[in-house]
Amino acid sequence: MTNQTHLHELIDKLHIEQELSKEEWTSLISGRTPELSEYLFTLARKVRSRHYGTDIYIRGLIEFTNYCRNDCFYCGIRKSNVHAHRYRLSEKDILACCRTGYLLGFRTFVLQGGEDGYYTDVRMIHLIRRIKELYPDCALTLSIGEKSYETYQRFFEAGADRYLLRHETADFAHYKRLHPASLSAEIRQECLWNLKEIGYQTGTGFMVGSPFQTAEHLAEDMLFIKKLNPHMAGIGPFIPHRDTAFAAETAGTLELTLFMLGLLRLMLPKILLPATTALGTIAENGRELGILAGANVVMPNLSPVSVRKDYSLYDNKICTGEEAAECRESLEKRMEAIGFHIVTGRGDYKF
Ligand code: SAM
Repeated sequence: MTNQTHLHELIDKLHIEQELSKEEWTSLISGRTPELSEYLFTLARKVRSRHYGTDIYIRGLIEFTNYCRNDCFYCGIRKSNVHAHRYRLSEKDILACCRTGYLLGFRTFVLQGGEDGYYTDVRMIHLIRRIKELYPDCALTLSIGEKSYETYQRFFEAGADRYLLRHETADFAHYKRLHPASLSAEIRQECLWNLKEIGYQTGTGFMVGSPFQTAEHLAEDMLFIKKLNPHMAGIGPFIPHRDTAFAAETAGTLELTLFMLGLLRLMLPKILLPATTALGTIAENGRELGILAGANVVMPNLSPVSVRKDYSLYDNKICTGEEAAECRESLEKRMEAIGFHIVTGRGDYKF
């Protein structure tokens, strides 16, 4: 049997929902070819269409603070980046973003930010309650980093429905090369188990092509995600930021990111899988290609244009000058052009 036949068989194995070993994942990822990718994407599209048809779910992203107590080596808003122009939106500003989003048809709001001490549990709970009171038909997703079990529980009780926390890399030694000693992969993963146990629709994810990443690391990511069985996975290419130690590193590729999206769709057929802004940043049609590889979610930006450029996680981020309505409209056109339709609705995971 040739190596390529073997890799096709591994994809077939995934398609019938059989588990792959670490060695199998590694050979699939490192042995991929354009032809194998096309085979994967065809199956991924079929699986996605079985559960979601041609529907694309939208989430209104509100990047509400770029203050962060953490110092992740790859991130443009890391605390030691003295060049970052810091901002935080007030509750009033955030509610104005929700209102704009609601009128544009968004029924999910994602509050994302650095780990900002100003936003204490009390302030967050107030904000969560307010959003849910004003928009009871909307889902609220939080993406504000690592918190204690009790805090996650309180946010959930206040009305938060979903939580995004990428595990970043499942390999503990690799994690250490991307983060300061104060952060650990073990605690990050524990947070994810806690979120699931509390009852959140939980999202994890990783960067593709982060510095020092190998095919074995990606294999471990797939094994971790299989075990966690999350409702969502956010993956996108690593893109260097000029004010970080990784400024001179190479960005992750479109090709590998698409391949990983296809694998995720086959491994967890119902997963909510965004075609991320980072994917749209490394290639003009990156998000469309992400959808064609198996993704089913897009996350237009609802943050005020005045702060967009300051939420700079990586260089050359797209959509920093567009108003929310323009962002939504342009994505709608892009999705229609490839035969998909943005739907108005919460876009929950299909249990
Ligand atoms: N503070 C929250 C957290 O830790 O989950 C949410 C904000 S954090 C900036 C959101 C995500 O941005 C991270 O999980 C990371 O994967 C991604 N990110 C940060 N820097 C990046 C870079 N240079 N390239 C691509 N993605 C990056």
